Amino acid sequence: MSRALRVRDTLIRAAYARSMSMPIEREAHQLFRVTVTAAEQVSPIMRRLTLRAPELADYQPLGPDEYFGLVMPAAGQDLPALPEADPDRATPRGSFDVPDEQQPDVRWYTIRAHRPEVGEVDVDVVTHGDAGPGSAWVLRAEVGSQAAFQTGTAAYRTEQASGAQVIAGDETALPAISRILEELPATVEAHVFLEVPAVTDVPPLPSPRSAMITVVERGTGLPGSALVPAIEAASLPIPTASWIAGEKATVAAVRRYLTSEIGAAKRAVYFCPYWILGKPRG
Ligand SMILES: Cc1cc2nc3c(=O)[nH]c(=O)nc-3n(C[C@H](O)[C@H](O)[C@H](O)COP(=O)(O)OP(=O)(O)OC[C@H]3O[C@@H](n4cnc5c(N)ncnc54)[C@H](O)[C@@H]3O)c2cc1C
Repeated sequence: MSRALRVRDTLIRAAYARSMSMPIEREAHQLFRVTVTAAEQVSPIMRRLTLRAPELADYQPLGPDEYFGLVMPAAGQDLPALPEADPDRATPRGSFDVPDEQQPDVRWYTIRAHRPEVGEVDVDVVTHGDAGPGSAWVLRAEVGSQAAFQTGTAAYRTEQASGAQVIAGDETALPAISRILEELPATVEAHVFLEVPAVTDVPPLPSPRSAMITVVERGTGLPGSALVPAIEAASLPIPTASWIAGEKATVAAVRRYLTSEIGAAKRAVYFCPYWILGKPRG
């Protein structure tokens, strides 16, 4: 390879790594009503809802880990009229013209599948009883239930991705990791680590040839109690980029290990606390 090509390659890699730690920016946000058109149990801990809206026909996810805000009516209420659309606003929290106690709840979930031809998305939600409004609403949602969809964004960049990557998460990251695996560029050697309460909680995973997938069970242990040791025990190359999502303390521990022990550049590690043990995520 000529020197000029090597320099260009290095610059592309550096720009890619820098951008990998930040979510992609969506130009204009939207908020619209959705109707549940199907609900099914896809594993003992995971319920899949299908949401439909005309706006989902034109909706453009920005990456495989695209997430959105599920805006749910407060317990015992109908969904109020939606506020005026604000393209700069990434959450409708508190913006409905109703008293505080009737404000809808917002929780963030990943788009597991998008079918623009019928204006539908599937979302796979880990249910954990009535401890939070997200889980409680999803457990009761049925065909015809109404919610709203606040557009979000994505963080995993498929373009220019190459080399070794570490992708790690728990069951809440299973939809995003499944989507990343579905779109994994052939130029990426993915070291994937997934922690779940039990392996029976995992629906069939896409398994591209360039991915090494380790699924670990934590049983009744604390979040991260199986994931962190599994990553520490693996023989990992220095990743060009990493993607970590799941319980907050777990995500922080994995990031710390990759950056301090493996030598991953901080700017090349995307990490997102998907939920917080003992606290609402909001
Ligand atoms: C970008 C993004 C994408 C996400 N994608 C998904 C997805 O596709 N599927 C999915 O299931 N989750 C996903 N999550 C995580 C989900 O938003 C959180 O789990 C959220 O806290 C659920 O809200 P809740 O109202 O049920 O509970 P909260 O009101 O947030 O919390 C109430 C209590 O429940 C506990 N809790 C919250 N989540 C869990 C859990 N999973 N297991 C056990 N206890 C829990 C909290 O510790 C707290 O004590 C995503 C989060 C983000 C930020």
